[in-house]
Amino acid sequence: MSMSTSNETHPSYVTSSVNQSRRCHECNEEALGRCPDCKRGLCQEHFPKQQHSPCAEKQMRLAQSQVCYVCGTPVYPDQWSISKTSHFVDQFTCAGCGRYICDELHTHRKKDMVVITREGLRGHRYQYVVRYCDLCSPFHRIGGLKGLARLIVAAGTVAAAVFFYFHP
Ligand SMILES: [Zn+2]
Ligand SMILES: [Zn+2]
Ligand SMILES: [Zn+2]
Ligand SMILES: [Zn+2]
Repeated sequence: MSMSTSNETHPSYVTSSVNQSRRCHECNEEALGRCPDCKRGLCQEHFPKQQHSPCAEKQMRLAQSQVCYVCGTPVYPDQWSISKTSHFVDQFTCAGCGRYICDELHTHRKKDMVVITREGLRGHRYQYVVRYCDLCSPFHRIGGLKGLARLIVAAGTVAAAVFFYFHP
């Protein structure tokens, strides 16, 4: 046996690198994202809030109170994955005051915030929809920083944060 072939097959190394904590909480697939709310590792299919507990139950419980604070239109906070490493999160809340706001009428300002996190060897891209209501919009720079700090804590280890502004 030659020693030079040692790099070719290492099945034990491959399986041990995907440890239990990187398994989806709902099934046995590899976890591809982490829920910003419950911090559980989830596969692409189970990443949306309605697809895993306890977030699905929480959504059910909160359904009555998840309405725009201005007009009362129900809002549906959601998150989804578009690929193994790209995830979107839309909380439908104002980043300034934390209240729910509807998309059509009472989101005065909307921007995307991208947070890149590292999970093992892989970089994950979380794109948050950051909204501001009419009242908070003038203070969005301050609120934005506060919101950023909160989101960074929620997202875990942050390698880089990038802002994209949509100016009206
Ligand atoms: Zn799953
Ligand atoms: Zn969750
Ligand atoms: Zn509204
Ligand atoms: Zn607000």
